[in-house]
Amino acid sequence: MSIENNLQAVLKSIPIHVTLVAVTKTKSVDEILTAYNAGQRDFGENKIQEMTAKYELLPKDIRWHMIGHLQSNKVKYMAAYVHLIHGIDKFSTLKEIDKQAKKHNRIINCLLQVYIAEEETKYGFDQDEIVALLESPEFKNLQNVNIIGLMGMATFTDNEHQIRKEFKLLARFYHKLQAVYPNFKCLSMGMSSDYLIAIDEGSTLIRVGSAIFGERYL
Ligand SMILES: *Cc1c(COP(=O)(O)O)cnc(C)c1O
Repeated sequence: MSIENNLQAVLKSIPIHVTLVAVTKTKSVDEILTAYNAGQRDFGENKIQEMTAKYELLPKDIRWHMIGHLQSNKVKYMAAYVHLIHGIDKFSTLKEIDKQAKKHNRIINCLLQVYIAEEETKYGFDQDEIVALLESPEFKNLQNVNIIGLMGMATFTDNEHQIRKEFKLLARFYHKLQAVYPNFKCLSMGMSSDYLIAIDEGSTLIRVGSAIFGERYL
């Protein structure tokens, strides 16, 4: 299957209100252009330097999503152009994004990463930490970041029941917050192997790499 065919197949399988972010980490500029020429505009990367190198070479109407774990000292490289930062898991990162966004006279949209998986390795806040963060005066002082929702990753497993349970939990928490925070409009959950379950449970944005571009070998 070609990139174009894979992209069309994914788009056909999802409702119109769900945003597809095509995840291009390790993939070439030519491969990204193939998806771009087929109409795709939202792309995701997990390393700031790789994303910035690609940003410089590619059309400027691409919306770049940072989906990886963040190192604060690299935020400055993407502050001028990033569309949405998904993986906020520390208040200090948010502070740095606010500082860099100010320099560019921008308000940068961000998602808080919620820890939903059973594995020890996944990053993110728990629910109490998120409630505390959103209510803290330190957070309310930040003028140049806008939290528009949540992001989560399910446990890496074939157990569909387990994955569904985790997505359900995240969606429930998201809807609870949405009732209090009108800015909330994005729930980023679902990847190649589980995006149909995620959408079923209320995802509004999926991050899909290998189902479009094939396996990653790097
Ligand atoms: C790589 C990655 C994806 C996409 O994974 P696929 O299984 O290739 O669809 C989604 N989300 C994050 C955070 C990733 O790092």
